Amino acid sequence: MLAEVPKTVDVVIVGGGPAGSAAALTLRQHSGLSVTVLEQRGYARDKVGETLSPGVLPLLDYLGVGEHFRQAGFSQSFAFTAAWGDSEVRARDFLFSGRGYGWHLDRTRFDAGLANAARSMGAELLMGARVRQVQRDDSGWTLNIDGLDNRLHCRYLIDASGRSAWLARAVGANRIQDDRLVGVCAYFKASDAVLEGCSLVEAVAPGWWYSAPLPDGRLVAVLMTDADLLQASHDYRAEFWHEALEQAPNTLARIGERAMADGFHVWPAHSQQLDPCCGTGWAAAGDAVAAFDPLSSMGIGYALSTGIQAARLAATSLLNGQFEAEQAHAYSEDIHRHVQEYQALKRGYYNVESRYADQPFWKRRQVA
Ligand SMILES: Cc1cc2nc3c(=O)[nH]c(=O)nc-3n(C[C@H](O)[C@H](O)[C@H](O)COP(=O)(O)OP(=O)(O)OC[C@H]3O[C@@H](n4cnc5c(N)ncnc54)[C@H](O)[C@@H]3O)c2cc1C
Repeated sequence: MLAEVPKTVDVVIVGGGPAGSAAALTLRQHSGLSVTVLEQRGYARDKVGETLSPGVLPLLDYLGVGEHFRQAGFSQSFAFTAAWGDSEVRARDFLFSGRGYGWHLDRTRFDAGLANAARSMGAELLMGARVRQVQRDDSGWTLNIDGLDNRLHCRYLIDASGRSAWLARAVGANRIQDDRLVGVCAYFKASDAVLEGCSLVEAVAPGWWYSAPLPDGRLVAVLMTDADLLQASHDYRAEFWHEALEQAPNTLARIGERAMADGFHVWPAHSQQLDPCCGTGWAAAGDAVAAFDPLSSMGIGYALSTGIQAARLAATSLLNGQFEAEQAHAYSEDIHRHVQEYQALKRGYYNVESRYADQPFWKRRQVA
């Protein structure tokens, strides 16, 4: 019997979030390479991460989708408000990202819009396709995929699978994790409400809150805490969440009498970096290569910019192979430098809050 011949493309991107779509768009716009994006989940479910910080708009313009999103009805946002260091709520410019305006996103619509733009540029988008196994051979990589009848063969792989960095780990890279931050998220119905446009951040003993109005009228409220602190109260997760909410008068007032729409959802939100960031025939982008504390609002912008860079690495490797090592080295150096700068900013910002210095969550972050 003849062995089944896998379908072949130039580049396979694992993960159809912002990083994967940015990589696909870049490759389709600036190279003639064929691209397949594998997305295990699709775009029907809620996803956290609603604030698009300033500085991201030029990236969207570079990707050719800036105008599309300007017309998408997302509300502009110039700052966020925070009760951090004391109980007074103050407006603050975007922390890490310089000046200008950002947006409050409908995240599902944003991610789907990027993926559709990549598809309309000629990338193949396979949803419900989860990579299960990857093998290197002389001419590239062969992937076994749940949800697909056939295997897939490609010459270059981009890992855009988010914090799990599934693909990079499968090819031997390590995740270096800084902390155990998680976000315990709940949505509130707000059909009656005219909510203020700003995100609100509020520090409490077991971590901090953020809440944000969503373009569909709901309010999202997320308790950021450490996984082990949450785990210790596993049977009482709802009580832990509500007790923390009682410590946050501004967030509590914002939620008011609104009814919770669904149950809680826990999202990993730890800071981490990948080592190495890329190798022969592969590169990682987005949260897979470096993931940040949501306090920074850096995630989506970084996913887009590293998606673009990973696509350039892929194009260099496949079209201009002699420069691959040089570019890979520059990419790794950039990521390393950004992570170091981010860590210093993060320490500085957590050090501003001195009210909870005896609490485990804060002690872990308030180092000299
Ligand atoms: C609580 C919280 C709040 C946040 N708030 C903000 C914010 O306000 N602003 C901001 O900029 N960022 C925020 N972020 C971060 C932001 O959401 C991420 O940085 C961003 O989504 C990273 O994009 P990505 O494409 O790298 O990964 P993801 O968006 O995680 O996408 C990865 C995709 O890969 C798919 N995938 C994974 N494994 C496989 C596999 N084996 N096969 C196929 N597909 C796979 C997943 O289904 C997923 O769709 C927040 C994060 C959290 C947790």
